[in-house]
Amino acid sequence: MINKDRLVKNFLRLAAVNSPTRHEAKIADILEADLLKMGFEVCRDDAGEKIGGDTGNIIARKKGTVPDATPIMFSAHMDTVEPTDNWGYKLSDGVIKSNGETILGADDKAGLAAIMEALTVMEEDGIPHGCIEVVFSIAEEIGLYGAKYLDIKKLQSGCAFVYDGGLPLGGVTISAPYHDNIKARIYGKNAHAGINPEEGVNAIAVASKAISRMKLGRLDEETTANIGTITGGTARNVVAAYCEVFGEARSRTESKAKAQVQHMEEEFKRAADEMGARVDIEIVRSYDGYKLPLDSQVVQIAVEAAGRAGIEPKTHGAGGGSDANVLNAHGFPATVIGVGYTNPHSVDESLEIEDLVKSSAMALEIIKIASGR
Ligand SMILES: [Zn+2]
Repeated sequence: MINKDRLVKNFLRLAAVNSPTRHEAKIADILEADLLKMGFEVCRDDAGEKIGGDTGNIIARKKGTVPDATPIMFSAHMDTVEPTDNWGYKLSDGVIKSNGETILGADDKAGLAAIMEALTVMEEDGIPHGCIEVVFSIAEEIGLYGAKYLDIKKLQSGCAFVYDGGLPLGGVTISAPYHDNIKARIYGKNAHAGINPEEGVNAIAVASKAISRMKLGRLDEETTANIGTITGGTARNVVAAYCEVFGEARSRTESKAKAQVQHMEEEFKRAADEMGARVDIEIVRSYDGYKLPLDSQVVQIAVEAAGRAGIEPKTHGAGGGSDANVLNAHGFPATVIGVGYTNPHSVDESLEIEDLVKSSAMALEIIKIASGR
């Protein structure tokens, strides 16, 4: 049985550890010690060195007690977004909320805690199980870098359950978007804004013209696009010779993501041509999307586990990426499980205790189903 008090205590213990991206060593030490106590073999890789962080991913493995069980992997990420300084929380009516000054960090400490509690109960109750791998990743929040530097070939599992979704609780992600980033560098021409503006070419005006012609926001059920930042210019009284714009497009259909960044590129070029500016465009794939068949093993196990844990099983498409995108891109079937947190990445983040308990119970059911029970 999931021990609610122990689970909540452990969640709060993990959430209280400050672990913004590249500073996950402290929480990694805690998790490593806990996994070792449960008899896992634990190692860390060198992903942290590659991105200037203070620890690598944690990779843990425990041999199965059921010989022909499906080997499975649980995963969650150790880093959080900020602000996290002077972290605190409020508890009312069974809901843990951020104190309004910082994030709560349930994304993804709730995932870490749910997995750890399920493994603890597995040990405590002597529940028969197959081989279990645990990957606690670093640097998810800045672009899935822990997963990108993970040696996926070394993993032995047949499928992975990534505990890194919000709502719906226990929701099983069957598809996630392809994500392309676009950066436009616009080169205009300096001139004095009051004396000879006609000799200048305003790079900011070029960007504005291009952006005003772009299709942005929600484009259809599975496709979105955004211009996120624009910087440029040197002074109020100088026609801006340079500006740069960052944007992105996502779609669960690859060709739609591609078509959208192309459309954005064309609008930058058209506006630059019209106004006599030059534009350099850089398009970089941030991560690949995926689609899991409904009858795939990973989806079937997760859906059945949700039902057994008292959660109405729901499959859905995600609007964002996660470590599961990287795993799936390597042919490693991985789904994201909803842990139930709301408003992640904000100071209004919250988590219902009953949801945390159910998501942990679901992890325990995943272990049982994979072992054939
Ligand atoms: Zn997350």
